[in-house]
Amino acid sequence: MKSCRLIKEDYEEVKRLVGMRQAVEYYGFSVNRKGRCICPFHRDRHPSMKIYPHNRGYYCFSCGAGGDVITFVGKLYGLDNESAARKLIEDFHLPVHTEGLSYREKREREKKVRQRRELEAFKGQAGKILREYRKRLCEAARCPMSPHFSEALQWLTVVEYWLSCLEECPQEMKKDEGMVRQLGTIERRLTAWASDPAERAAISG
Ligand SMILES: [Zn+2]
Repeated sequence: MKSCRLIKEDYEEVKRLVGMRQAVEYYGFSVNRKGRCICPFHRDRHPSMKIYPHNRGYYCFSCGAGGDVITFVGKLYGLDNESAARKLIEDFHLPVHTEGLSYREKREREKKVRQRRELEAFKGQAGKILREYRKRLCEAARCPMSPHFSEALQWLTVVEYWLSCLEECPQEMKKDEGMVRQLGTIERRLTAWASDPAERAAISG
């Protein structure tokens, strides 16, 4: 049966479904009370590999090997990420299907990939606009003569807040039509700002 390439969502799903500790133990290493096991990647006599809870991966304090459940299996068996993820899917019987997909399931996967790419594009574009605006506002805030001085005082913290929202929940922001309009407004303001002779005079003066 022909199987599709794994997509980012599949990797996320594997990491969500297989605990780091669960995997380490499945492949034959016991984790002690301190959450450490013998490191398979160097000649380890005392357990120096820390297994972090909540799937935050592993790190060896002796040889510096570290990563997540997929890179662990990859390194252990000499596999690339895709084969390592497939091995986990198989060994743990994970409900991540990449073979024998119906037309609808394939469309569903394509849709997920498209949505993720759109979100990444939105994040990139919105971040660029907001960072540029923040930079301009910071300049204006340092310069009481600037025609944008009061705008800067008013908007700087809001823009900071939006930037942190964009980092934490870009999806919500993309869905928010008011926010999307706001970004358009800011973008136009930036264009006008760049060609404002009074502003240039204020900054250089
Ligand atoms: Zn090690």
